[in-house]
Amino acid sequence: MSYILTEFGADVLSDVTTFCEREVLKQAAEADRNRIWPEEMYEKACEMGLGALSVPEEYGGLGLTLPERAAILEKMAWFDAGFAVSYMTNILSSIPVFYFGEHANRKSCYDLLLEGRFGAFCLTEDQAGSDISRLRTRAIREGEEYVINGSKMFVTNGRIAGYYVVFAETDAGLTAFYVTADTPGIEAGEEENKLGIRNSDTCEVSFQDVRVPYTAILGKEGEGRKIAVFCLQHARIFCGVTALGVAQRALDESISRVREREQFGSLLADNEVIQFKLADMYMKTEAARQCCISALNKAGAGEDCRLAAATAKCLAGDAAEYCASEAVQIFGGYGYCEDYPVEKLLRDAKIFQIFEGTNEIQRLTVGRTLVK
Ligand SMILES: Cc1cc2nc3c(=O)[nH]c(=O)nc-3n(C[C@H](O)[C@H](O)[C@H](O)COP(=O)(O)OP(=O)(O)OC[C@H]3O[C@@H](n4cnc5c(N)ncnc54)[C@H](O)[C@@H]3O)c2cc1C
Repeated sequence: MSYILTEFGADVLSDVTTFCEREVLKQAAEADRNRIWPEEMYEKACEMGLGALSVPEEYGGLGLTLPERAAILEKMAWFDAGFAVSYMTNILSSIPVFYFGEHANRKSCYDLLLEGRFGAFCLTEDQAGSDISRLRTRAIREGEEYVINGSKMFVTNGRIAGYYVVFAETDAGLTAFYVTADTPGIEAGEEENKLGIRNSDTCEVSFQDVRVPYTAILGKEGEGRKIAVFCLQHARIFCGVTALGVAQRALDESISRVREREQFGSLLADNEVIQFKLADMYMKTEAARQCCISALNKAGAGEDCRLAAATAKCLAGDAAEYCASEAVQIFGGYGYCEDYPVEKLLRDAKIFQIFEGTNEIQRLTVGRTLVK
């Protein structure tokens, strides 16, 4: 089973692939190495209309299906995981607005994405990572407004966002708010010095006396936990397919390498030990892809996809890390050096076992569901 695409979806995938071949491949590697934000690459992506990828047709977007978005994200990640993560986060941050926001918030969010701005999802805090019951950001009601105070860690797209979805405690419990970046009191910190996905923007974002209208609430007051769980379970599937781009690239690079590299008088490709490595890489990637597709189908049919999404995200993240590590091994000493693409893949892969809920937490979710 592969991603089912309409003719239109296949055309968009082909355009995105051409764009990535031309603009992303070289710039991304250089920007990663020199730790330079690839502004030009994102400007061109914006001109090319990549902001419309996650926008529904009725709001001026491309109206792509879930499998089409997934296929495109996987392809983008094949070229550069950080680049794909920026757009993956647009999906994560637009889900709460789409499902729980008022029409005006939805329109504002999608207009910003169409302009080429990004969305950010602000949940994690310094004391609250896996355990969101420890969140300390607060929103106090004053008349028809809420005043938000607090600080969020590791916000993807934090400095380039046009809007933020912010989770804050209110008297009624955890609540999600839609906050545009031009609201006074928002400050994005310095870019984190990351191991990988350096072409995605990650920073702390603080909210000091940030005033938003009552209508900025997504869903109802006190529904924040339910909304976070709902959005993350859908977004985890996209996190999974993004990880698959890294896994597939690691496999493809390895196959090319062993077809050329000779040792002991024969090609590495003819060596069974190497073939077994490739076989394991392929099987883990393909198994994870099937789980992602199955989870996408469940999500698309409006079924409960919590178990399927946790399984897909965990398997795909593990496959990415496994394949990238094996690719470095297959390349030998060259794989350990920057001149070859696989060391970056290994650095990029690791994050997929950490963010959008660590893989330990995904295993807990799966295990708890099984014994319930
Ligand atoms: C590059 C990057 C981008 C990110 N982007 C975003 C973003 O856009 N928005 C956002 O809100 N957050 C974001 N995050 C935060 C990310 O989701 C968290 O880092 C992640 O959820 C883990 O939280 P933590 O780092 O506090 O680790 P902790 O929760 O402190 O966990 C540390 C370790 O303990 C394990 N652990 C914790 N609890 C348990 C348990 N009960 N059982 C077993 N093991 C457990 C974890 O699995 C992990 O291995 C990002 C992080 C990074 C690094």
